[in-house]
Amino acid sequence: MTLALSKDIQTGALSAVDLVQKSVQAAQTENLNSFLWLNNSALKDAAAVDARVAAGEKLPLAGYPLAVKDNIVLSGMKATAGSKILENFVSPYTSTALQRLINAGAVVIGKVNCDEFGMGSSGENSAYGATKNPRDHTRVPGGSSSGSAAAVAQGLVSGALGTDTGGSIRLPAAFCGCLGMKPTYGRVSRYGVIAYASSLDQVGPLARRTEDLAALLEVMSGHDPMDATSLHAPTDFSSALTKDIRGWKIGVVQEALASGNSAGVLGALEATKAALKDLGATVEEVSLPSLANALAAYYLIACPEASSNLARYDGMVYSHRAYGSDLNEVMATSRGQGFGGEVKRRILMGTYALSSGYYDAYYSKALRARAMIAADFAKVFLGVDALLLPTAPSPAFELGAKADPLEMYLTDVDTVAVNLAGLPAISIPFGYEENGSYSNSNGLPIGVQFIAPILEDTRLLTISAQLEAYSKAAFLQPVQHL
Ligand code: GLN
Repeated sequence: MTLALSKDIQTGALSAVDLVQKSVQAAQTENLNSFLWLNNSALKDAAAVDARVAAGEKLPLAGYPLAVKDNIVLSGMKATAGSKILENFVSPYTSTALQRLINAGAVVIGKVNCDEFGMGSSGENSAYGATKNPRDHTRVPGGSSSGSAAAVAQGLVSGALGTDTGGSIRLPAAFCGCLGMKPTYGRVSRYGVIAYASSLDQVGPLARRTEDLAALLEVMSGHDPMDATSLHAPTDFSSALTKDIRGWKIGVVQEALASGNSAGVLGALEATKAALKDLGATVEEVSLPSLANALAAYYLIACPEASSNLARYDGMVYSHRAYGSDLNEVMATSRGQGFGGEVKRRILMGTYALSSGYYDAYYSKALRARAMIAADFAKVFLGVDALLLPTAPSPAFELGAKADPLEMYLTDVDTVAVNLAGLPAISIPFGYEENGSYSNSNGLPIGVQFIAPILEDTRLLTISAQLEAYSKAAFLQPVQHL
């Protein structure tokens, strides 16, 4: 599959250099704090793509301007994961997912902002300052892939890579008004992705068109010998775009509707249900009783894994190094200076939950809850093809509005269960909230979320393509088109 844009480059109607030049310019002058580090060789890389095309190579992503979350490494560029502790880290290698995209002709415009190590829901936990929501600069873009979603929705790039441990692709996609997909766990290699919680982390694409998601996934997914958890699975995603959803059964998760959703979110769900019916699907209510435990289980699994993964930042091998009179002081001071408040909180919670005496009460119980959640999903998928629920209970909130960490964690209530069960899920923009009610034309973007069974990622692309064609208006146009 070759994207329309890349086809133009293949036929010579457009040059990769011209396209990338526009994107670089947009990234240089953006005012959202989405880009952290620009790729100085973007134009040279684009010229190399033009040369490969001229030599007759067929490149499915020829000249595709791409932003990359700063926890995914690219050789020769900084990779800070939004943390001060990695402020001077320049990666000596490139992640598998990104290398595959580059080989297919994509051009990295730069590395984009994120919550430190992916820990956050608003983009405010970055050591390099918060990113702003392109639709309203007083609001958060969502996190942790804040820069990825803001850059895509603003039209600074065509697509972006994010990572999703508990909603970090879907939530910012919903808040900014673009598409964001978290593939089945293991679909995309994690080699070269700075680890947060390894049993939950997954790389995925953000874009404004479903065909972009399919093209990016098709190129970057598939087994990688460098990641033992990556799957041997077919990687045909583009054929999903021409299918329809006639006769499909979509289950609406009742527990996610119970309380706390804003009027705009409820309106978006109703509009989506009506669209699905018009497109030939049937919609029914389903129940996932263990969903109520998902948030607690998620934080009791993610924090312990993070506390272990982040032990490597000790100022010895790499990462920020402070002065001290002995080894312990060097390590403690380096970590004290380098990590931000939220990361420290999670390391403390994680080591506590893993410590002897508390392991059984917290960590091991959370693992059991995780198994129950996965079993609940498996059961419900015996009766339906996909699930529908909100991506978040509300549209983007104001910068600084959620100072209480617990309140911030509640933003993830609709997204974390997916990661615990390893399932694929997508957030699709479907309307707006304006003055406290649903609008199909104006206001803050609202995302609706679909979940599919393991390895049925293509169902999500079919639903997305169908909804995109059904309601062009709900798919936001970028602020400045690229
Ligand atoms: N907001 C969630 C957290 O802070 C999810 C983050 C993510 O998916 N990386 O852990």
